Amino acid sequence: MKIALIAHDKKKPEMVDFAIAYSQVLKQHELYATGTTGKKVMDATGLKVHRFQSGPLGGDQQIGAMIASNEMDMVIFLRDPLTAQPHEPDVNALLRLSDVYRIPLATNLASAELLMHALSRGEMHWRELVHQRQSKA
Ligand code: PGA
Repeated sequence: MKIALIAHDKKKPEMVDFAIAYSQVLKQHELYATGTTGKKVMDATGLKVHRFQSGPLGGDQQIGAMIASNEMDMVIFLRDPLTAQPHEPDVNALLRLSDVYRIPLATNLASAELLMHALSRGEMHWRELVHQRQSKA
């Protein structure tokens, strides 16, 4: 599974703790992240993460492009609802595309943990069926 990790600045410590706590699950998957989030996760866990641009510089849109081609299987986006973001339109676009393509999306730690449990129980296999159907089309 391809999993995107994004955290707004005030949520980065939470993302690092999350990645440490679930590193055994995450290491079995392909990880993608916006620039700074990816660096912090890699430094803290040693996990391999494909890093895009920083969020305000287009990283959200790069992840959005993967969603639009149905290549991303899950998005963990720890957003900060209490701080205005310069790239709010990009944030909204990413959330919107996740809904358009029915990509499991967690926007806070509690739901991110539920997605990790679902992943480790094999409840995300339906995404492989989506990929198989896509490759036949
Ligand atoms: P960053 O981007 O990981 O590069 O900080 C995330 C964001 O703030 O959108």
